Order: sequence, then structure tokens, then C-alpha cells
Amino acid sequence: MADLLSLSSFLFSIITFFFFYFLSVHGDNSTQSSITQINYDLYHSSRNLMDEIKEMVHRHSDRLSMEKVKAGNKGYSAEIAVVTYCKGKKDSAENPKLRILLSFGQHGRELITSELAFRILSILSEEKHLPGMDEASLNSILDKVVIKVVPMENINGRKLVEGGDLCERRNGRGVDLNRNWSVDWGKKEKDYDPYEENPGIAPFSEPESQIMRKLAVSFEPHIWVNVHSGMEMCTLYNPSRS
Ligand SMILES: [Zn+2]
Repeated sequence: MADLLSLSSFLFSIITFFFFYFLSVHGDNSTQSSITQINYDLYHSSRNLMDEIKEMVHRHSDRLSMEKVKAGNKGYSAEIAVVTYCKGKKDSAENPKLRILLSFGQHGRELITSELAFRILSILSEEKHLPGMDEASLNSILDKVVIKVVPMENINGRKLVEGGDLCERRNGRGVDLNRNWSVDWGKKEKDYDPYEENPGIAPFSEPESQIMRKLAVSFEPHIWVNVHSGMEMCTLYNPSRS
């Protein structure tokens, strides 16, 4: 339990630190332009980000691996990269580890979340260090975990944003992946916006949701953090309700 608390504390501190660090350093960079453009001095393009992550995985094959999962239907397809962090012995019945799933970029416009995924992978690979964190205690915690990181769940939506639809949050065919799961599917809250929150034609109609469900079912995470930006909200993952 102490390890779990330390790990939760580590995850929380790493996510909040970089989130607010990024905002404090870059949050005052408004331009005079009537339409805000993506500032590629601050954000990677999706292609550069995924290329850099791929190269990082190659540099640290002792602890990082990457797979790409594809799915599609009705002429629409999606591909999601999943990076696995596991140092030392594998997760097994003899050597059980805590399984953590971290997913980012479910909404196309939330660019900062994928930057955070990149930072976390940089720290897990020890290319970057978290200020104030005791390396020895961090390493002893990390020996006991397996972490799967999905840096960019909605790459098709992200490409729409990069193409100029800066406020787009949905996937490449207009479905909100955060409303496409079976939990409360089609439920219309008071502030329901049919454009922003299009749940799709049925639960799990979207390839991205199908890939994430398959990942969750096979990996069985003890902790899943689905990171978003733009709202002050933290909800708990319940594997029995998906
Ligand atoms: Zn979001």
C-alpha cells in the first residue's frame, strides 16, 4: 500500500508539475493574429512527436517497447501507438507488478496532453529528471510497475487540428471518443452539445474506442489515468463499468 501511495503521489506530481510548468512558461504567448495558430516552437507536430517517441524507444529497448494497433470499419481506420515501460523482470504470477495505463490526446485539440506523455516517457527512460524527486526511491518504485502509455489516442482528430480546425476535439469522422463508450452512452446532460459530444452510432462504434477497450481488457490495469486539458476534473476508472 505504501508503494501504491508513493506511486500515486509520483504520478500526480509528475502530471501536475509539467502541466503547470508548461502553462507558466508558455501560457502568455498570445499572438495578435485573429486566428491563433499552433506554435510549433512550443508544441511538436504529431509526426515529430511520434518520431521522437519511436527514437526514444529504440534508445532504451531495455525498458521501453512500442506496438501499433490498427482497427477500422466503414472505410474509416485508426492506428494507435502503445509504449510499454517495464524494467527488469516481467509481470508474472511469481513477480506481480502494478499495471498502469496512461492515455493522452483523446481529444484532438488538447495538444498539451501528448507533450506530457513525451515528458513522462523522457523521465521513465531517465533522459530527463523530475526536480526534487529522489532517484533511488523512484527507481525502487518503477521496478515494481508496468506502465503502458498511449501518447496520442486520437491521431486522426489531431491531424484535423493541425490542418486548421483548431477547436476540433472529435475523431476523424466527427465522433467524440470520450462519449463512445458504453457507460452512459447517448446520455444527454444539461449542457449537452450534439456537435461536440456526438457519441457515434453505437457504443464502441469507433476504431479508436475499440482499440482502447481491447488494450484495457488484455492489460487489466490497476490504475488508468486518461489525461485531458481544459477542465478541472479528476474521475476514477471502474473496470466493471466500461
Ligand atoms: Zn478532453
